[in-house]
Amino acid sequence: MVVDADQDYGIDARMGVLFDAVASHGFTSRQTIMARIAEGGIDPDDYRIAGSRAKLDAWGDAPIGPRDFESLLADEILTISRIFRRQLIVPDWQDFCRAITLIYEGVAADRSGANADYIPILRDADPEKWGVAICSVDGQRFCLGDVDVYHSIQSVSKPLTYAFALLREGEAYTSRFVGTEPSGRPFNALDLLPDMRPFNPCVNAGAIMTAGIVASGSPEKSAFDITHDLMALWQGLSGSIAEVRYSHETMLSEKATAHNNYAISYLLQGRKGLPRDVDLHKMIELYLSCCSIEMTCSMLSVAAATLANGGVCPLTGQQVLPTEIVKKTLSVMQVAGMYDNAGVFTLQVGLPAKSGVAGAILVVVPNLMGFATFSPRLDDYGNSVRGVSFFRDLVERFTFHVYDSLSGGRTGCKLDPRESQHNRKQRDLSDLKWALSHGDRHARNVCELLLQVMMDISLADGDVEDPELRVISQNLDEMIGAQVSVQQLQSLSLERQAEGANSFDALLRRLADDCPNLDDNVRGLVLDAAFRVACADGMVEPEEYERLAAIAGTLGIHRGILDIQVDRFRRLHAVKAT
Ligand code: GLN
Repeated sequence: MVVDADQDYGIDARMGVLFDAVASHGFTSRQTIMARIAEGGIDPDDYRIAGSRAKLDAWGDAPIGPRDFESLLADEILTISRIFRRQLIVPDWQDFCRAITLIYEGVAADRSGANADYIPILRDADPEKWGVAICSVDGQRFCLGDVDVYHSIQSVSKPLTYAFALLREGEAYTSRFVGTEPSGRPFNALDLLPDMRPFNPCVNAGAIMTAGIVASGSPEKSAFDITHDLMALWQGLSGSIAEVRYSHETMLSEKATAHNNYAISYLLQGRKGLPRDVDLHKMIELYLSCCSIEMTCSMLSVAAATLANGGVCPLTGQQVLPTEIVKKTLSVMQVAGMYDNAGVFTLQVGLPAKSGVAGAILVVVPNLMGFATFSPRLDDYGNSVRGVSFFRDLVERFTFHVYDSLSGGRTGCKLDPRESQHNRKQRDLSDLKWALSHGDRHARNVCELLLQVMMDISLADGDVEDPELRVISQNLDEMIGAQVSVQQLQSLSLERQAEGANSFDALLRRLADDCPNLDDNVRGLVLDAAFRVACADGMVEPEEYERLAAIAGTLGIHRGILDIQVDRFRRLHAVKAT
């Protein structure tokens, strides 16, 4: 609807469009405005809308007309406009969150692995805890499960201690003492590079040395005071959404069981020597107390988002770390963040990450978002089992792997939350319609595939009834502007019914043959056509789902992507029905 807002409302047209997004019958309310903001993933306490929020709160529950709307929101209208017009980095935030929920729920059933047991506080932690938190570079947030449980950050501290060393001492000095090579060895191994430096800052030897570098730069400060400086860094990275804490209990236990870490420290001292001859005990104390910093999963997700955003915290706008240092930190996380499983993790997930033995994993999707997961049961490498599964599943569905950008249209229809799925589909369809109107050969083939796929989904229960044919006819029209009458469809359906079960097999063979020539957009459309028909009556029958899965499998589309789409369809249907 085009509104002549100037005339109707006495405010400029663009402001009028924003008002229309939340108004009905010429009025809106504080609640509606805040709900729209929340829908975009933005917290009501976000600093970017703090002024408007305060004005809205003072306004209360009275109706808000267009001019009031303008005066209440004008101070922060740029941000409000981006939220209302779905111009944040993930436009369909709610859809994305649903997809994340499906993955989260799928992984929850996995109870394999075991808590770290070298200290009581980790051994006795509730192994059932499971949390996932996300924050985008535009500050859109989503949390699921046990995201507010404080736990020691353990090795998650390591890359940031390295960042701190780079910040304070510079790269040249830091790299004299610690390498940046993957180790391929367990995190607590005593191995060193041939030049006697530890492999990297993410294994214990490297992290202990990094603590030594940092400690050597502040001779006047105690290890505990330096830990507070690092806690302040974490506080800034996590946008101060909650308080960074310190666990004395963890520290005492760490100290009492740190024999291996002492062995490493003496080895470092004996081989390479310590930076500025720093006191070995101060070095190890700083290392252990960094492990004893306590944070929550939701705080870690904001810290990850700050790294994803080049060091600027999305929730405060503060440049917490210089971008150059963030680049180096992420590089080290990429090669060594998951201990001796870092290579496999890079292959499967392809993102910089860091895990800790309390069960946290922090993962950065550069320029897009930060993730944190928390689940205490660990695998043989010391990485959280559920966390690793979550990220593997995530990257099977979304184009987050660093090399997904190589795919040139062959990602198996992975989803890209950066782009509105709705806009993408509309664009693909209008291209196809246009090409079809000119008789394009490829478009005609696609049209045929869509028709056959829809027909065979209808046939999943044995026969096709007239209402189903009407759905097919409507969808063909809607998707590609093809006019196929119900009568024409009837005769086609009789032909296919006569072929019996063979007809579906024949379709799968045709899809398999055509597949190499179909790009991701078309594969997506074919599957879309199939589940439009399957979901038309608001529910997907088991036989229909089976056929959808077979079609997806033949097209090389991951089952999880299908499940996300079906779930979204069901929800849209449920909304329409109410
Ligand atoms: N405190 C642990 C240690 O030094 C940290 C190890 C980890 O999280 N991988 O052994």
